[in-house]
Amino acid sequence: MKSDHRDLIVIGAGPAGQSAAIEAARAGASVTLIDRAPRPGGECVRRGTIPSKALQQIARDLRRLRSSAAELIDEEIVPRLSLECALRRVGAIIAAHEETIAERLQTEGVHYLRGSARFLDRDRLRIEIPGAETHDLSASKFIVATGSRPREVPGYPIDHEWIFDSDSVLSLARLPESMLVVGGGVIGSEYASIFSCLGVRVTLVDRGGRPLGFLDEDLSESFLASFREGGGVFVPDARVASMETDGFSSVRTELEDGRVFTSERSLVTLGRQADVGRLDLGRVGIRLSPRGLVPVDASFRTENEKIFAVGDVIGPPALAASAFEQGRLAARRALELGREAAEGLVPTGIYTVPEIATIGLDRARAEVEEREVITGRVHFGELARGQIAGLQDGYLELIADEKGKKLLGVAVIGEGATDLVHLGQAAILSGWEVDALVKNVFNFPTMGEAYRHAALRILDQRRVALCV
Ligand SMILES: Cc1cc2nc3c(=O)[nH]c(=O)nc-3n(C[C@H](O)[C@H](O)[C@H](O)COP(=O)(O)OP(=O)(O)OC[C@H]3O[C@@H](n4cnc5c(N)ncnc54)[C@H](O)[C@@H]3O)c2cc1C
Repeated sequence: MKSDHRDLIVIGAGPAGQSAAIEAARAGASVTLIDRAPRPGGECVRRGTIPSKALQQIARDLRRLRSSAAELIDEEIVPRLSLECALRRVGAIIAAHEETIAERLQTEGVHYLRGSARFLDRDRLRIEIPGAETHDLSASKFIVATGSRPREVPGYPIDHEWIFDSDSVLSLARLPESMLVVGGGVIGSEYASIFSCLGVRVTLVDRGGRPLGFLDEDLSESFLASFREGGGVFVPDARVASMETDGFSSVRTELEDGRVFTSERSLVTLGRQADVGRLDLGRVGIRLSPRGLVPVDASFRTENEKIFAVGDVIGPPALAASAFEQGRLAARRALELGREAAEGLVPTGIYTVPEIATIGLDRARAEVEEREVITGRVHFGELARGQIAGLQDGYLELIADEKGKKLLGVAVIGEGATDLVHLGQAAILSGWEVDALVKNVFNFPTMGEAYRHAALRILDQRRVALCV
């Protein structure tokens, strides 16, 4: 058995672990990044963000192809998806991204070790390496970035053949005719809209009154209208009493109120929990929270002062986007490279079809806080670029303070929302006033111009307010 010492060991090579390891290597520390997978990237690349976004892109492409074909081509063309081809494309995207990450880690001087890690004590890890000698490593500091897995909820017999979770859904052998999706959170709504767009009859059930219920009502209602227009069915206030498959052709789902749904396949998305089962955290004095997460302080330090935790293991926002930043900050703290506070302004990006993105204050929070705001909204169909691109749905809304001066938030729904929101993020972080969005010249015709038009609407309201 070999043994070695490092300044820092990072367990888990997803977004959180990669950025922690890179930050440490850049600072000249000896760092090893361990993951049980043959290649770095994490569940983010293998089963989470990247494959789901690749499938969303395919769904958007197909939708676009259908509408263009209907308008521009004489012959009737009904593009149908070949799931096999789509999944081949998803696989190629995953491989390309894994390659990029591996090269980046190598360039940055990060030592990557494949193996499954568990704590022996507060200084040492045991690494089980498939087909090789077990390896013990010691380190001055550790960062746990082992991610999450679907939350196990009793009563859902997930078999990955008829009833799937978000980790297994892309192992579908073919597109089913119909699918019942349980859970109208981000992952459930994303997959429900993607599969609907791909031609599957989707029923989305949620115990709340609307999907994506944490968003302001206009955004989630707009999403719902679009989902319904595409043939999706949403069942609100639904509590699942039982779910079972006949193992032959379908899944039967019964709600507590007696309603029964039969679908060819089912997808259960009821949240995620920290993936720490094999780490033996108890040995190093770390207890999980009642929600199954690793508790940390503002510096990402766990109950054990030598051990930090970042990414999905610590819970919300549980996004790849924030995991990168958490990893970087935790490495700085662990190696005492100087304090940096986490940036509070994190955008929300929801890759449904259509996409949704927000930054800063939203209407819902303004209402809860009884804050007076002035909003300006422009529909994509009003913009020259929107008309050229044939975008019927979608809008961008700016939220300003009660004087209509200071920009506080941006909400976007529609094509390209997750990119479009970044201009608003930069504007808010730079402290721009709404006027700056009007005074600046935007390329014409572009979707970015939406900012100018929405700002003009705020200015109009300001003028009206001054006249009364
Ligand atoms: C369907 C889906 C869609 C998503 N879409 C988005 C999105 O659009 N945008 C976004 O920002 N986020 C998205 N997310 C969330 C995002 O994927 C996660 O927030 C992100 O992957 C968390 O990164 P992480 O580094 O914490 O963990 P992970 O990416 O989960 O990586 C953890 C790694 O730790 C390894 N590991 C675990 N235990 C051990 C052990 N004992 N020893 C060695 N290695 C171990 C695992 O093999 C894994 O590689 C999505 C998630 C899902 C499920």
